[in-house]
Amino acid sequence: MKVECREKLINHIMFPKGIVKVYHLIFIILAIVIIYLFVFFTGGTKYVYSHTMYIPIILASISFGVTGGITVGLIAGILLGPLMPLDTITGEHQAFMNWFYRLIIFIVIGLISGLSFNAFRKSMQKIIKLVSFNQETDIPNVSLLNRYFLANKTDIKYLLTVVINNNENIIDLFSRKHYIILLTNLYQRIKAVLPKETQIFQAESNKLWICLASINIDYFIEKITSSLNDNFLIDNIPIYVEISIGIVKFEKHDLIEEFKNSDAASTYAHKLNLQYLYYNPKYTVVSKNIELLGQFRDALYTEQLEVYYQPKVDLLTNKPIGLEALLRWTHPEKGPIAPLDIIPLVEETHLINPLTDLVLKRSLQTLVKLQNVGIYTTVSVNVSAKNLHQPQFFESIIDLIKKHDVNPSSLELELTESVLMENINANSLILDELKRSQIRLSIDDYGTGYSSLSYLNQLPIKIVKIDKYFIMNMLNDDGLKNIVKSTIDLIHKLGMKVVAEGVESKLIAESLVKMNCDMGQGYYFAKPMNKKALFNWFLNNNLD
Ligand code: C2E
Ligand code: MG
Ligand code: MG
Repeated sequence: MKVECREKLINHIMFPKGIVKVYHLIFIILAIVIIYLFVFFTGGTKYVYSHTMYIPIILASISFGVTGGITVGLIAGILLGPLMPLDTITGEHQAFMNWFYRLIIFIVIGLISGLSFNAFRKSMQKIIKLVSFNQETDIPNVSLLNRYFLANKTDIKYLLTVVINNNENIIDLFSRKHYIILLTNLYQRIKAVLPKETQIFQAESNKLWICLASINIDYFIEKITSSLNDNFLIDNIPIYVEISIGIVKFEKHDLIEEFKNSDAASTYAHKLNLQYLYYNPKYTVVSKNIELLGQFRDALYTEQLEVYYQPKVDLLTNKPIGLEALLRWTHPEKGPIAPLDIIPLVEETHLINPLTDLVLKRSLQTLVKLQNVGIYTTVSVNVSAKNLHQPQFFESIIDLIKKHDVNPSSLELELTESVLMENINANSLILDELKRSQIRLSIDDYGTGYSSLSYLNQLPIKIVKIDKYFIMNMLNDDGLKNIVKSTIDLIHKLGMKVVAEGVESKLIAESLVKMNCDMGQGYYFAKPMNKKALFNWFLNNNLD
């Protein structure tokens, strides 16, 4: 039997309501009459069949509690007492004590089973309440969702996710008790402005799910938002609640799946600083990103992250003169994740700090291991804007350099133009400090931003990496070739060195040599590789 059918049957028996109660009554009356006739036609109470009467007594106590049990016990006692001979063939009557004692037993059975079923029903109700309602707020929780869905799927028109974005702040500034009162008030405010048949569930500690049974979504959204405009007064303290609402039209497929869409819309609403937003399929990308970021946070502390190294080569001698450290993430289920699919997301969060820290540490360890086998080179690490703004960033790098006992000039930090241009004044102070410490600095992906070289020249930067887009395509596009040529000349005039990224072929490398480009990095020389492959590569390319 299907779980829902079984649940329905148990509900009908244990918690009869309305018409079901009438069916129970009819069934019990029929059972009494049939058993009475059965006892009569099998010869009267001198035979064992009168015991069958326990069945309707117990059924009555299940359906109608103590009163039902006692009443049916009494009726059954009388029917099988003065109204039933001991022997129907001889017509012999029962002795008074005989039927009276049975009547008392029937009543007692009705009483005991009625009391037991009442207690059982009460504890069942308690358990159902425990699992169906949030213990702190008393708001229905998602365990009721499926049952509700089965009963009301045709009525549901819209699904809404209401999220309190500043829940953690509220708890930090006030207390959890205040927050719970606030959430309960919020639930009541929303419930008060929505149609009676609307069901609201608490999906998470800061998230409500609403099944709206009305097509007037704009009207009710307006009602909800204006009901939330006034501050919440808890213990006379006005608490500001920041809320975002995601809305999705219910298509009657899968409630949980569609709530995920309204969740994504609410996340996006929050990002865009809007109070509410209708779902658009592109928002699932946002929630997927959030999921991926969550998994990346865990990956930071596992073996899933690896640092690969790609050599940079002197274009005249073809000798390696440095390495770029590049992150690689192998997701346990999704496999390798491209850096550009995850790093821009990580850069939006504070996770970029432990990430850069991890790459720096592993790169310096690799540098030391290379030095131990007589290979002296440099390593460059990509740095994000948030890293520069992290207090102690500079100190932590100096500490790492000291700890690994490497020459500061063997570490290079790669910064993109956009990183540099963001808050340029503050950055130039940090960069000056880095420069004084002899750590080298380079501009990455040059040409993709809008900065002017002469402006960047005022910063303590001595290496510019031309973005791979220009290099990879320059042989097929004279315009690009001219840009590369003039950029190299200009960089040299400003006293800086040039690295060309994306050198994929011998022809490109030769062309760059003709343009006086200093260094090249690209698949033609070597692809990014793990530490072991790097050692082998050096054996073949460094040591003559
Ligand atoms: P990027 O710093 O400009 O790194 C160079 C990218 O170009 C690398 O991509 C490298 O594999 C790729 N590349 C090198 N030579 C060639 C070539 O000849 N042809 C082609 N088609 N591609 C080439 P990757 O490893 O996928 O990294 C992409 C970007 O992700 C990096 O660009 C960098 O911005 C970022 N990234 C990677 N690792 C880190 C990291 O540890 N920290 C930070 N903040 N960003 C990182
Ligand atoms: Mg780079
Ligand atoms: Mg680059």
